[in-house]
Amino acid sequence: MQQNLLNFDAQQLTAWFAAQGEKPFRARQVLRWLHKAGESDFDAMSDLAASLRSKLKQQACVQIPNMMREELSDDGTRKWLLDVGTGNAVEAVFIPEETRGTLCVSTQAGCALDCAFCSTGKQGFNRNLSVAEIIGQLWWANREIGKDAGGNWPVSNVVLMGMGEPLLNLDNTVSALHLMLDDNAYGLSRRRVTVSTSGIVPAMDRLREECPVALAVSLHAPDDALRNMLVPVNQKYPLRELMAACQRYLECAPRDFITFEYVMLEGVNDSAQQARELVTLVRDVPCKFNLIPFNPFPQTHYRRSGAEAVRRFRDVLMQAGIITTTRRTRGGDIAAACGQLAGQVQDKTKRTHQLMEVRT
Ligand code: SAH
Ligand code: SF4
Repeated sequence: MQQNLLNFDAQQLTAWFAAQGEKPFRARQVLRWLHKAGESDFDAMSDLAASLRSKLKQQACVQIPNMMREELSDDGTRKWLLDVGTGNAVEAVFIPEETRGTLCVSTQAGCALDCAFCSTGKQGFNRNLSVAEIIGQLWWANREIGKDAGGNWPVSNVVLMGMGEPLLNLDNTVSALHLMLDDNAYGLSRRRVTVSTSGIVPAMDRLREECPVALAVSLHAPDDALRNMLVPVNQKYPLRELMAACQRYLECAPRDFITFEYVMLEGVNDSAQQARELVTLVRDVPCKFNLIPFNPFPQTHYRRSGAEAVRRFRDVLMQAGIITTTRRTRGGDIAAACGQLAGQVQDKTKRTHQLMEVRT
């Protein structure tokens, strides 16, 4: 079987080349062609010996997911639906801003964690994405948007905030992160790559050891009773353990704060009293808050908090000295906003029943 070279980070590619009797610098050359130049045709890799090129053509391939559909929002946001086989498709979203271009990447087909307010969660879970399928989203976006950009890749920031829980697909996520940071691949700084997690405590510790990038933690509630309901994985990793894991993460993090994400749900988690409780909860964790207006999707009974409630909530946090931003909704008209990514998922989990069996 041909080996898809997009499944390897630098170290893994070097090991594969060594197994083929090839020198490490050849692996570096190929890595640059694949990721820096976005090249998928071995014949175009002009500085490789003809013999190596023909060997690669026999034993290897470069395969990214097929693009099934592209949608363009009025605000410039782009969403791609990428075919990951057997009836599954995932979504990647590019959000252009004046000074940066952010790509929101998916790590799983669906998600098993079933957060109450999340469209991806409602789809159920099918499988983890491979390294090639994760990094393929960046490869694809850079090529698509970069066609007219004169060789400057337009993606300056990556957030792992698309479909799925990245820390439940940790090995593949870490290899993809290595590629994002590698100077022979995408060369992004650790601060420009953010992993978002619902709080898988042991995996947060592993990420800290294996590839500490910026970390966002989806908090959404100030107490365990409410968080158990909104983010059911909290039953396994309650707030006290989560806060301790955040503190440990900061020992290695490229930024000296955790970003807490907090989706604002009217009448559920948006009172001033709950904001005060949050201040107490995060007392020992240097952090910023990012308040996310709830993005509705079909079959949800939640409503977005009103502007006044959001302002009141933010004021409480700010007065306690916590920098708090409110996320601007982008791509809402093409269902590309946070939590709206539904893709196409053949559910294998029979929903929540397997939640507590999820391995880390
Ligand atoms: N599984 C990871 C990353 C993907 S979700 C996590 O939960 O962190 C990315 C972010 O979108 C999370 O903060 C999540 O809570 C938020 N989100 C989910 N559904 C949402 C919705 N309907 N409206 C707004 N944000 C939502
Ligand atoms: Fe999964 Fe994140 Fe959605 Fe929760 S919010 S269901 S963890 S993708």
